[in-house]
Amino acid sequence: MVTMTATPARADREAARRSLEGLALGDAFGERWFPLFRDREQAVDEIRARRTPEEPDWHWTDDTAMALAVHQVLDRFGEVDQDRLAACFALTFDADQGRGYGHGMHLLLPRLLDDPASWRRHAPELFDGGSLGNGAAMRVAPLGAWFATDLELVARQAELSARVTHAHPEGVAGAVAVATAAALSTRGELTIRSVADRTPPGLVRDGLLRAARLPFTTAPWKAADLLGNGQRIRADDTVAFAVWTAARHQEDLAAALWSTAEGLGDVDTTCAITGGIVGARTGVDKVPPEWLQRREALPIG
Ligand SMILES: [Mg+2]
Repeated sequence: MVTMTATPARADREAARRSLEGLALGDAFGERWFPLFRDREQAVDEIRARRTPEEPDWHWTDDTAMALAVHQVLDRFGEVDQDRLAACFALTFDADQGRGYGHGMHLLLPRLLDDPASWRRHAPELFDGGSLGNGAAMRVAPLGAWFATDLELVARQAELSARVTHAHPEGVAGAVAVATAAALSTRGELTIRSVADRTPPGLVRDGLLRAARLPFTTAPWKAADLLGNGQRIRADDTVAFAVWTAARHQEDLAAALWSTAEGLGDVDTTCAITGGIVGARTGVDKVPPEWLQRREALPIG
């Protein structure tokens, strides 16, 4: 008897690592522009002048903490095991709660610490119908890079990774879109239209279709005005602009992050998304050396 077994997609570990480094760099760079560190006027002036934030330590936030958890599960198990991912998110949160997690994660993740499998019950209860926030999108780019040889698998694995915390269809669609963008970037095939075509119908995809029609000659701050800059912390307010700047600068990570920062809003998260997508292709080697010196190191070998 011949037993048919599915052939696992070849994991592109190097692309996933590049994406993770880019995501963490975007997160830590973007965080510098938060009102906590600079008032809006100062941030606008410094970003327009492309003046590197002078602080010596750029800490990454929840975006990177959760991306590390996704990466860890892929590294150990080769695919998204949802209960193990839930446990990993909960342990990561418990170890360092001061990373700027959103309200929903403060409610959900402590509950998963004792009973990781309870995400099935608790995640859909968040905000009456599940979170449609940008949290599933902000952490998923390395997964897209990991499975980049198989775009169907990228979408399925992204959905599995999202549902552990973000049960609302828009929260899931945000993750599918960003993972797909990272996969296409890894392959050198990134277009906004192709990301939209592989994103489930809804507001996230509608935003991507608007982004696909927006010329790259548009000033990034204007694009953020039109597409959303994440200030509502929703996937449909976040993903389109971050994918637009990634596609606009797909061979230049530093330029991509400056353009994304121009949008302000939820700027650590928009920059984390853009950084994860572009970094999957470029790596971080060509950004100014002081950026890498200042960015908090990743706790992986
Ligand atoms: Mg954050």
